[in-house]
Amino acid sequence: MRFTKLFAPTTKDAPKDAILPSHIYLVRGGFVSQIGSGIYNFLPLGKIVLDKIRTVVKEELDNAGAQEVMLGFVTPSTLWEESGRYAKFGKELLRFKDRKNNEFVLGPTHEEAMVDLVRNRVKSYKQLPLNLYQINTKFRDEARPRFGLLRGREFLMKDGYSFHESIEDMQREYALMEKTYSQILQRLGLDFRVVEADSGAIGGSGSKEFMVLADNGEDDIVFCKNPSCGYGANIEAAKSKDNFVFDSEVEMTPGEFHTPNISSIDDLSEFFHIPKSYLIKAVAKKAVYEDRDEVILYFIRGDDELQETKAQNIAKALELEDASEEDLKAAGLVAGFMGPIDLDVKFFVDERLKDRDLMICGANKEDYHFVGYSFKDKDFDYADLISVKKGDECIKCGGELDITKGIEVGHIFQLGTNYSEALNATFLDRDGKTKPFVMGTYGIGVSRLVAVVVEQHHDDKGAIWTKSTAPFTYDIIISNIKDDEQKRFGEELYQQLLNGGESVLLDDRAERFGFKMGDFELIGFPYAIIVGKGLKEGVVELVDRKTLTKQSVPKDEIFSKIKEL
Ligand code: ATP
Ligand code: MG
Repeated sequence: MRFTKLFAPTTKDAPKDAILPSHIYLVRGGFVSQIGSGIYNFLPLGKIVLDKIRTVVKEELDNAGAQEVMLGFVTPSTLWEESGRYAKFGKELLRFKDRKNNEFVLGPTHEEAMVDLVRNRVKSYKQLPLNLYQINTKFRDEARPRFGLLRGREFLMKDGYSFHESIEDMQREYALMEKTYSQILQRLGLDFRVVEADSGAIGGSGSKEFMVLADNGEDDIVFCKNPSCGYGANIEAAKSKDNFVFDSEVEMTPGEFHTPNISSIDDLSEFFHIPKSYLIKAVAKKAVYEDRDEVILYFIRGDDELQETKAQNIAKALELEDASEEDLKAAGLVAGFMGPIDLDVKFFVDERLKDRDLMICGANKEDYHFVGYSFKDKDFDYADLISVKKGDECIKCGGELDITKGIEVGHIFQLGTNYSEALNATFLDRDGKTKPFVMGTYGIGVSRLVAVVVEQHHDDKGAIWTKSTAPFTYDIIISNIKDDEQKRFGEELYQQLLNGGESVLLDDRAERFGFKMGDFELIGFPYAIIVGKGLKEGVVELVDRKTLTKQSVPKDEIFSKIKEL
């Protein structure tokens, strides 16, 4: 490709709302352009990168025995009603009607559609297992589309669904997909971790996420510092060892205690001269359900923090909002003085508090706390509710836990029979019995990956593509296009590299050298070959985009030098 022919409108201006490097450089480098909130056009450079990633994804999946299909992006809402998700999915699901008044959705994910494709077509265990995937547009009307391609509303996803006769066989495929996804990310040149994930609202047993390490990631991932342990989990699923040690000096006579205006954990700890681990913290949330809102209380230890996703899952709520003073009043609660005593509202207690005694909690009475509270013999709803903190002890090995930022690029899921049961998708097993398919589902964000590569590989000048994702590997820059010798050699080298099967761009534009070099740095091709003044002395310069180091190479040796790279 010649730069004079390439449609790559680079610009100095970043979009006003762009704060992440990947967003800024993909727009400034002429890879993508925004056409609506969370909706992007791919320009030639962006399309090349997207296709390269798509190819890696496809090759690895095909190798693993999965088969590519393509389902309708527009899906009849009747399928979503069958699964029960039409009501549950909320506002992310974009719904509309056609001219005949039939209702449709723009597919945000395709479990229903894929089950529908397979049911009545696969009838016997003899046709199993089956792993079908597509690489197709998705639409999710995200509440806050942001960060360019990282969280769009329209995006490209590889979504796969596997069908099995048994849980064991599904788990075998799940392990194979973990390996396959890891190979995909390795080939793309990404530093990532596979972590245990929250299985969330979809239900099901095991689930793992593929997290690319990046300072700007939205996800917190917990991992054990002990290299031989390998524990890693999304903060939404992470657990740590309980580090509470009982202090034998602590004594309490059970009863109410006047605590005027003292309601925060810090103030209480000071007032009672006691560590926060002896206090019970009440966190009030308004849980949003399909048909109602409800105030729910979560009781955790004073030195712990509530993990919102865990809290939402245990309440089986569509969403959790902060409860306002009015919400609390309406529920008959006294803000700042809430405890698990004679409560009329629904509440959950962190599992670490089970059987604890000698604690202090709100007395559900203005300006009063209860001292000496005991959970012994209290038959409450206990669950893991808290967030792991940096430095906590690893649940697996007792080592030290650390937390780092990551971007979720893939998610694999042991789905089980939820969807096949709901949609009545069955097969005849070895004993001639009718059974619902056991399923797995596997997603990877193809367009998100375009941004993720830049998020992990960039500097203050622009993107730095990895070899497997670069739109072109080599950028031959003819320094002065009016210099016949430079032009001739540049053209020759270009042809030679093309004939040698290399991915190469020739910057033959009548622009200043500095401008062309700026584009090279912004767009981020792995290498530039500068054909400039040095040519008179028989040398060209090879620039490594990653380090921006220049190396003089005799012009007759540049071709073999490149072959070495
Ligand atoms: P997130 O927590 O980031 O919203 P998710 O849990 O909703 O992701 P899945 O439903 O598991 O994501 O979708 C599979 C993959 O699709 C994700 O791992 C991610 O790479 C990609 N993806 C999800 N939502 C978006 C989006 N709004 N824009 C771009 N890619 C997305
Ligand atoms: Mg999402």
